[in-house]
Amino acid sequence: MTPDLLYHIRTVVYLSASITFIIGLKQMGNPATARRGNLIAAAGMILAIIVSVFINVKKIKLDNGLFDYVQSQPPAFVYWLILAAIVIGTVIGWFTAIKVKLTRMPELVSMFNGMGGACAALIGLIEFHHNTDNTGALVAIVLGMIIGSTSFSGSIIAFLKLNGSMKKPIRMPAYNMINTIWLIAMFAFGAYMIFGGSSSTLLITLLFISALAYGILFVIPIGGADMPVVISLLNSFTGLAAAFGGFLYDNKVMLTGGILVGSAGTILTIVMCKAMNRPLFNVIFGAFGQNNASGDGVAVTGSIKDISISDAAVMLNYSKNVVIVPGYGLAVAQAQHVIHELEVLLESRGVDVKYAVHPVAGRMPGHMNVLLAESNVDYSKLIEMEDINPEFEHTDVVLVVGANDVVNPAAKTDSSSPIYGMPILEVDKAKNIIVNKRSMNTGYAGIENLLFYDPKTSMLFGDAKKVLSDLVAEIKAIG
Ligand code: NDP
Repeated sequence: MTPDLLYHIRTVVYLSASITFIIGLKQMGNPATARRGNLIAAAGMILAIIVSVFINVKKIKLDNGLFDYVQSQPPAFVYWLILAAIVIGTVIGWFTAIKVKLTRMPELVSMFNGMGGACAALIGLIEFHHNTDNTGALVAIVLGMIIGSTSFSGSIIAFLKLNGSMKKPIRMPAYNMINTIWLIAMFAFGAYMIFGGSSSTLLITLLFISALAYGILFVIPIGGADMPVVISLLNSFTGLAAAFGGFLYDNKVMLTGGILVGSAGTILTIVMCKAMNRPLFNVIFGAFGQNNASGDGVAVTGSIKDISISDAAVMLNYSKNVVIVPGYGLAVAQAQHVIHELEVLLESRGVDVKYAVHPVAGRMPGHMNVLLAESNVDYSKLIEMEDINPEFEHTDVVLVVGANDVVNPAAKTDSSSPIYGMPILEVDKAKNIIVNKRSMNTGYAGIENLLFYDPKTSMLFGDAKKVLSDLVAEIKAIG
């Protein structure tokens, strides 16, 4: 095959792969098609990798304005190196993804994201010396390296915070000012390297180290509880860094892939900020270290009442409609299968059962959708917050399982509450509320929940899996 034909074949494959990414992303927007979407995008990525490795053709502009296509053949050992990297990466990625628990998914995402950032940073370190006379390429290299290194070290710190190795936020005096000065100095240094004509190894290494240090400085002041937002933000950084790599290598699929990751990460960050009522401005300027979990919330008066398994079973069995609110505790207890069993049982008794899904229930976006999909809950039963809220006043029983903050009425009624303004599932409007959790411990935001003291609320204490299994047995016994 001639080099120009190979070049065009590669372009068509890149275009097709980019289309699979877009289709994949679209399908991931719905739990029913998410798995297929993931596979389609992965297939596109495999094709793109194959042609990137095996079709080595460059398009060169000639003096007469026409183009020529030049084919090159890397030495055999390069292919072996690439193969080794692919095999090692695939094996590690496959086993970690299979073994990881769903509740630890944010850690895995931060680690994978860090690897993407590291790749972008290494591209910058390696390619800098080959492009010292090309300003456009230098801009892509320096920006890709700064953003990739920041994302790499920031993701590692996020990982350590999520797995509990780095518990307390570390805040230097005036850390916000130091971070801002550091950031400006780093970009000024990068601009000097691009336009000042310096190609010293020492300088590019210094820039690399200072970007790594910035990633650490950026993330260490932020509380571990805020890490999912930080990871999503760092994810968008990695996408951007990869896009610069695509620009540098004139690799269209790397460019589109990077842009898609960058924009998807940004949109996710905005959605999470909205759902947690945290202004994006604070996120971007790193001012959200003052974790909202530090607030005390409103002083609570009144008493709680608990309910026995048998009373709860009777109440659920004889209701016309029940809305289940899943939360983080459901995931911790791994009670997704038994809750589905309860739903099917109640439906067989003529009860209409739905699930109310809050956008930030659990510890990662879509956490509850993924969890319930695992136990084959019908997707049409998962109702989003905006759609289910108007239905609560007509609901006989709301069964809250391991959820806390996402149903706390203080978000609407108490302007001094740290979660004030966060949109919640308005379960307090229902006729009866049963809350299952193990104790009166607080949730993620660390504040009391007024719902538990509502006269319509009954507490059903115990581990979600055990309590739901007992409920199923008791309802079956009602016959
Ligand atoms: P919460 O963290 O508010 O509450 C979870 C509750 O589950 C706890 O109060 C705990 O009480 C209970 N629980 C824990 N283990 C069990 C168990 N085995 N059985 C039964 N109950 C259990 O969860 P929500 O889902 O309501 O809210 C999510 C929170 O996470 C929000 O504040 C959100 O802003 C935040 N967040 C969400 C992100 C996302 O993307 N989804 C990202 C970052 C933060 P007890 O110990 O008494 O059992």
